[in-house]
Amino acid sequence: MTLNKYYIFAAIAGLMVLLIVAAMPLGGTNWPEILACFAALFAGGWLGRQLFAEGKSQLEQIENLKNDYKNQQDKASKCIRENKDLRLQVQLLKRQKRNTEAVVYSISDAVIVTDANDRLLMANEPAGVLLGFDAKEAILKPLEELVMKKELVKLIANSRTSRIRHVKHELQFEAGDNTLTCNCIISSILDDDNEVCGAVTVLHDITREKEISQMKNDFVSHVSHELKTPLASITAYSEMLVDDEATDEKTRKEFYSIIQGQAQRLNRLIEDILSISRIESGLVKVNREPVSTALIVRDAVEMIKSYAAEKDITVEDQTAVVFDQVNADKDMISQVVINLLSNAVKYTPKGGKVSVNSEVDESQQVVRVTVTDTGVGIPSEDLSCVFDKFYRVKANSKYAKGTGLGLSLVKQIVEKVHGGRVFVTSEVGKGSSFGFELPLAAAEKTLVK
Ligand code: ADP
Repeated sequence: MTLNKYYIFAAIAGLMVLLIVAAMPLGGTNWPEILACFAALFAGGWLGRQLFAEGKSQLEQIENLKNDYKNQQDKASKCIRENKDLRLQVQLLKRQKRNTEAVVYSISDAVIVTDANDRLLMANEPAGVLLGFDAKEAILKPLEELVMKKELVKLIANSRTSRIRHVKHELQFEAGDNTLTCNCIISSILDDDNEVCGAVTVLHDITREKEISQMKNDFVSHVSHELKTPLASITAYSEMLVDDEATDEKTRKEFYSIIQGQAQRLNRLIEDILSISRIESGLVKVNREPVSTALIVRDAVEMIKSYAAEKDITVEDQTAVVFDQVNADKDMISQVVINLLSNAVKYTPKGGKVSVNSEVDESQQVVRVTVTDTGVGIPSEDLSCVFDKFYRVKANSKYAKGTGLGLSLVKQIVEKVHGGRVFVTSEVGKGSSFGFELPLAAAEKTLVK
């Protein structure tokens, strides 16, 4: 029942009461009127009760609405709070992603991150260069499509499916004309349920390490071989002496001098090896001081003259007495000049000529020392290797004994220790010119300024 109807009922009941009250003074007891009056009273009471109940229910509804509104308000503020938290978490995740990317992108090794379906999630530039794809364009593409090296794709898939945490392999990649050797380390990524959800692959270029290790092996086997030869002859001759195989004094003396010569050779060899390895490892002590190469050349020529005279070779010092100054270790530069001079004498037949020249090249700001001989010369195909360790020109080994370390030492002293440059020109049958350049002390001072 709507409120309007109650008003109509109330109006009718009120009207009836008024009619009864109005009729009462006109005549005695009028039962129909009294009944009507009671009916009106009852109707009025019932109506009042209905009105009260209706009002109460409406109040309850209002209260419920208020509660609902409050609940909605609470929910809304909870949502706002949650939304704020989510935004913060998103920001945090974005920052973490940026940090991870920054770490991956700053690594010089090639790094790729793949998901549980072997699709690319992240790759840095070295990875793109090594594996041949554009690191930015390739995201979310299957590795199978991106990487030519199928061995790598297979290794990543295998390590993921076999749930191995870390695996290490050695792989070779073609890079233009070069072959790169890389250590490939694949690490599986586990999720909260301990399931493999991807893999991180790091490719570390070990080409240089491999070369160095090969060079070390070669060096050790060269050294052992070089040491073995004089040792073998020392052992053989001393055994013959012990067994009294040298019957007369003359033979004994010959054996002694062979042993002495081989022991000296052994000593030279060890000295050269130690000098080279000290320079290479940077452990050598360098006493730099202002020195004149003209004076060093003069002293070296004096030293070599008696050895040259044995072969009837003339040694000529063409150096003008100019006190050209370089900042150098005097002993080391002396050793360089002596090595070049003794080679020139060694590889020049009897009656030949060796000349030395030290000059200042103002335009290049260097001092240039050149040792020229009229010796056997060096075939052009050997020229680029003569400064390598243990390199001996096959065609010339019959002319003189040697270790193949002298020129290597020259190069180390000039280039590594003094920042200079070595050079050689040669013609078979005509002779060779070996030399070096050192920066003038004045030029070095200007550079420092
Ligand atoms: P070695 O102890 O054999 O002389 P070096 O390192 O001094 O070792 O020289 C390397 C090689 O270069 C020598 O074996 C020799 O064949 C060649 N060589 C060096 N100097 C001369 C030169 N002046 N004339 C000809 N060949 C030379």
